[in-house]
Amino acid sequence: MSAIDTLPPLREVIASHQLSARKSLGQNFLLDLNLTAKIARQAGTLSECDVLEIGPGPGGLTRGLLAEGARRVLAIEKDPRCLPALAEIAAAHPGRLEVINGDALEIDPLAHLRPPIRIAANLPYNVGTELLVRWLTPRDWPPFWQSLTLMFQREVAERIVAKPGTKAYGRLALLAQWRAEARIVMSLPPEAFTPPPKVSSAVVHLTALPEPRFPADAAILSRVVAAAFNQRRKMLRAALKGQAPDIEDRLISAGIKPTERAEQVPLEAFCALARELER
Ligand code: SAM
Repeated sequence: MSAIDTLPPLREVIASHQLSARKSLGQNFLLDLNLTAKIARQAGTLSECDVLEIGPGPGGLTRGLLAEGARRVLAIEKDPRCLPALAEIAAAHPGRLEVINGDALEIDPLAHLRPPIRIAANLPYNVGTELLVRWLTPRDWPPFWQSLTLMFQREVAERIVAKPGTKAYGRLALLAQWRAEARIVMSLPPEAFTPPPKVSSAVVHLTALPEPRFPADAAILSRVVAAAFNQRRKMLRAALKGQAPDIEDRLISAGIKPTERAEQVPLEAFCALARELER
């Protein structure tokens, strides 16, 4: 029997440590350990990996990751009230769980991790999207991680895997699909969480590609795509006019009609435009 079974049920953990959920920290906990084990399994083979978990809370997913055999888990949690519950999990898995109390947006975890590294998280969505964009846009590629297994609001998950010509297509789809393979691997109804959020959720699994699908500078691509979709109803020559004085010529050189709207433009053409703008 794995050590996950010797720890108390999560409802008891929450009650004994008085972990009433705080909205300000986006706390919607997963208390069903079968479900957290299932999410952990979506993260791939963990036995030879260090896993970075952001926002472990009372530790449901952490317990899943350890039960699925993660070599080590490094968990970064902002809420200090969760630390005693996480310490109990660390004691049940000697040497396999390190917890850092702090804001994941401010902490550089690399010194605490040994490759290969996978990342798993169930995070408030604004922190999740900000971290996702950071993980997808380092200057050099491949990144420090092999895969990301992340819970998002269903609508955000759909934006990550969206195709051109759809309403959900935008910056997240382009950045994710440029350098990674992205799939929705699970859907969860609001009742899966305590307390239930207003919307459904989904787990997205992203695998880092060995190299980007098309060459481009990450910072330029990121900037152009953000500008193009900030005014997604405008023609690109207008939406991108701040990017270069001769933007129409550059769009044409990249094979894009200046009268097109961002929603219609595929990844390959945005990468060509980023290269044109780099010249
Ligand atoms: N992983 C747990 C689960 O699945 O039950 C908790 C998920 S809850 C949606 C999000 C967790 O992220 C909370 O524990 C919250 O305190 C933590 N959190 C929120 N913002 C954070 C940040 N900036 N850095 C680290 N943790 C954060």
